[in-house]
Amino acid sequence: MGLSDDFHRIDPGEILPEAVVRASGHLENFTDPEVSCAKCKNHFRAETILEKWRPEGLDGLTPAQIGELLKQHPVRCPNCGSTELSMPRPFNLMFGFDLGAAGGEKAYLRPETAQSSYLAFARMWDVGRHALPLGIAVIGKAYRNEIAPRQVLFRMRAFTQAELQVFFDPASFPLPFASVENERLPVLRVPRRTAGEERPEMTSARALVDDGLPEFYVFFLVHLYRFFRDVLRYPAETIRLLEKSDAERAFYNRIQFDFEVKLDSLGGYKELGAVHYRGDYDLSRHSAGSGRDLSVAPVGRPRLLPHVLEVTFGVDRNIWALADLGLHVEGERTVWRLPSYLAPSSVGVFPLMKKEHTAEALRWVQRLREAGVDAEFDASGSIGRRYARMDELGVPFCVTIDRETLETPGLESRTATLRDRDSKSQERLPLEALVGRLRSSRVAPRPTPLETVG
Ligand SMILES: [Zn+2]
Repeated sequence: MGLSDDFHRIDPGEILPEAVVRASGHLENFTDPEVSCAKCKNHFRAETILEKWRPEGLDGLTPAQIGELLKQHPVRCPNCGSTELSMPRPFNLMFGFDLGAAGGEKAYLRPETAQSSYLAFARMWDVGRHALPLGIAVIGKAYRNEIAPRQVLFRMRAFTQAELQVFFDPASFPLPFASVENERLPVLRVPRRTAGEERPEMTSARALVDDGLPEFYVFFLVHLYRFFRDVLRYPAETIRLLEKSDAERAFYNRIQFDFEVKLDSLGGYKELGAVHYRGDYDLSRHSAGSGRDLSVAPVGRPRLLPHVLEVTFGVDRNIWALADLGLHVEGERTVWRLPSYLAPSSVGVFPLMKKEHTAEALRWVQRLREAGVDAEFDASGSIGRRYARMDELGVPFCVTIDRETLETPGLESRTATLRDRDSKSQERLPLEALVGRLRSSRVAPRPTPLETVG
């Protein structure tokens, strides 16, 4: 993996035997409280029913506490308006089914890709060099039987996750913390949240460590923050790192900061990724569940059960968020300021006059495509109309071929006008310079390699 030589990407199966999800705790804990309507028989998430009175959600509340909230407030069925709603029941979010034709053996679609990495840990340890940290990454589908899929790509039953599990020795996880200690992060910690504050506070990595967070944890917070800001290119002022309280954290976590981005079209901050310190929860549970001791003895160090630091990232919802933040309506003009790596193509190439310049424009399209730049040809309507069309599609550049292009003899030294979607600025460039500019603009996002100490 590009992130570190100690990290590896694997592509394991998606079907988990029941013993695995029992050991992981998902059979027992991976539930969402649901409420049913006695009149119309519809089922709803308790969180949705109570959203008006408890916008911060129901994380950390017991079923009895949720039942109390339902009694206290004048809740109604969102479908028929009836007040005959049941008390909340835990609804397991996993898709379960019988294996094979005979049945009798239960299995589940993985509710998070992380579990695949824990199952692979022993084998990866054996084929590796018996050293910690060991990172295992999975990018793939996870499945949840959501009671109410909604908010476009935010709550889906099948979705793509990118999750990295870093197995490490808590007594020795040397990282070059000094290289990140001055980075300032927009964090919202539990005490300020409890005081009703919603805005993050820029806090240095060093201050977070002085305040009790482990260096390794903050090191990864900084790297994920830089990935959001510099690689994916979210506007810095939209990002918030929200600390989850003891009661709110997922059942396997010791420390959890959610990466949230403010999306006005969805009513506020939405979670797009997270850094989880899971301790030795996963390997101890899978050791107990499988009867196989998953502790390891790194070369030259005492035997231990590694701890896990998880970096998790929702692929679909990030694409949606970037698309949403990029869409701007400015008077008559609609422009989709997609980051160039997400744009449907890199450049639109236009002949100024259809009759005179089409052959030349097609030569430029061919040259660009040979250089790996996906160029589109468009000759319909006025130049202004063609610019507007590309702006709406999110194509970051346009090139116009005109009379001046044809005045120079050789194709390579001919020039055309390059127009920038965001600034609307135009400049005249020779073909080769233009190819170079467009190629470098469309570099796929890659995280900066971690300066881990092997
Ligand atoms: Zn109803």
